[in-house]
Amino acid sequence: MANDKNLKITFCSGAGTVTGSNFLLEGNGKKFLIDCGLVQGEKFIDDLNWNKFSYDASTIDILFISHAHIDHIGRIPKLIAEGFNGKIVSTIPTKEITEVMLADTAHLLSKDIENGLDKIYTKENIEKAMSLWETIEYGQKLNVDHGFQFSYKDAGHILGSGMLEIIYNDKKIVFTGDLGNSPSPILKDTENITDADYLIMESCYGDRNHEERSERTKKLEKVIMDNYKREGTLMIPVFSLERTQEILYEINNMVEGGKIPKMPIFLDSPLAIKLTALYRKYEKYFNPQALKIINSGDDVFSFLGLKFTEDTEDSKAILRVPNPKIIMAGSGMSNGGRIIHHEKNYLPNKNDTILLIGYQAIGTLGRLIVDKVKKVKILGEDLVVKANVVEISGYSGHKDSDNLINFVENTAKTVRKVFIVMGEPRASMFLSQKLRDNLNVDTYIPETGEEVMIEC
Ligand SMILES: [Zn+2]
Repeated sequence: MANDKNLKITFCSGAGTVTGSNFLLEGNGKKFLIDCGLVQGEKFIDDLNWNKFSYDASTIDILFISHAHIDHIGRIPKLIAEGFNGKIVSTIPTKEITEVMLADTAHLLSKDIENGLDKIYTKENIEKAMSLWETIEYGQKLNVDHGFQFSYKDAGHILGSGMLEIIYNDKKIVFTGDLGNSPSPILKDTENITDADYLIMESCYGDRNHEERSERTKKLEKVIMDNYKREGTLMIPVFSLERTQEILYEINNMVEGGKIPKMPIFLDSPLAIKLTALYRKYEKYFNPQALKIINSGDDVFSFLGLKFTEDTEDSKAILRVPNPKIIMAGSGMSNGGRIIHHEKNYLPNKNDTILLIGYQAIGTLGRLIVDKVKKVKILGEDLVVKANVVEISGYSGHKDSDNLINFVENTAKTVRKVFIVMGEPRASMFLSQKLRDNLNVDTYIPETGEEVMIEC
C-alpha cells in the first residue's frame, strides 16, 4: 500500500501497443481508472479482452474516460459485469458518443456465444454504465475526498476528447489520452499543458511525421478529381468518429466552393450517420472557423450528391450506381464493417481507388493494403489488388512525432517524468529518445502490467 505522498500507476493495458487504454491510479485509500478500452488488432476485438481484469472492479472509486473511441471505452460493459459500482466521469459529448459506440459494439458481439460475450455486452450492463455516469465541462473542477482534484482540457482529438489533469498534493499528473492532430478542420486545437509534474502520454505516431497539413485538402481534392476523370469508384475507409465528419466537412467546402463537380457520394455506415448527428448537436465545441461557416447558414454535413445509406438494401444498391462515385464506409482499418464488401468489389479493378487516411494497425487488412500487399483475402475470397492505393497521412487524428515533442516542450521545465504509452514499441522508443535528446526530460516506457510509484 502506498503511503500518503506517493501514488501508484499500473499500466494494466495500452502500454507497448496503441489500443486497449486502461490505467489504474491509486493512493491515499482511493482507486481511479483512466479509460477502459478494447485491445484491437488483427481481429476487431482481440480475445485477450475477455481475460479477467488484473484488479478487483468492485473496489474502483471512479473511472475517468478520455474520449469515446472504442479502444478507450470498449471494456466498460465488462467492468460492470465484474462488479464495478463506482462513478464514471467524462465530458458531455463523450458520454453520449459512448452510448452510441457501445450499442454498436453490442450489436457486433451479440452472436458471440462462444466467448460468452453475449452475457457481458448486454443492454443491462450498458444501461447500468450510463446510470453511473456523470459529466463535467472542460475546465470544470471535480473535487474528490482524500485530496484529489480532476479536470479535463481539450485534447482536440475527437468531439469531447479530454486530457485528464489530476492535482494531488500540489502535484499535477496528466493523462493525455489521444492527442489531436491540430489544427483540425472542425475541432479546437489541443490545449497547452505548461505545469505538469508527470505526463502519461500517447505515442501512436512517435516515430513519424505527417505530411504538411496545408497539403492535405489539395491532395484530397486531387484524389477525388483523378477518380472523377477516370470514371472510377473511390473508396474511403473511414473511422466513424471524427474522420468521417472531417472528410464530410472538407468535401462540403469543395462542392459548395465549386472545386469539384457534383457526383454521388455515399456515407455507407449506420454508425457514422448516428455520430454525425451528434456532431451537429454539439457544434458549440467546434473551432471558430467552423462555427463561422455554420453561422452563415451552411449545413456542413450536407451537400449536393451526398446520400446517407442506413439500410443494408441501400448499401447493396451502391454497386449499381454508375461511376464516378465516392463511398465512405467503416471500419477505418478494413477489419470489419461495410467497407470490406466494397473492397471485395472494387479492389481488383485498376480504374478504382482506395484512399487511406488513418492509422492502420498491424494485422489489419488496411495495413496490408497500405503496405501495398497485392494478394489479399476478403470474406474468404483471394483477390489481387489492382486498384490505386493512395494515402494521405495529414488527416490522421493523432499528433505526429514533431508535434508530440512540441507538446511536451511546453511543460519541459516542470515535468519530472514522461511515461510513454499507447504506441508500438518502435514509435515509443523513438519518441522517448527524441524527448531526452531535444528537451532533456526524463522518460520511461512501461510494459503492460507494470506498476510504478510516483512521488507527490
Ligand atoms: Zn482515439
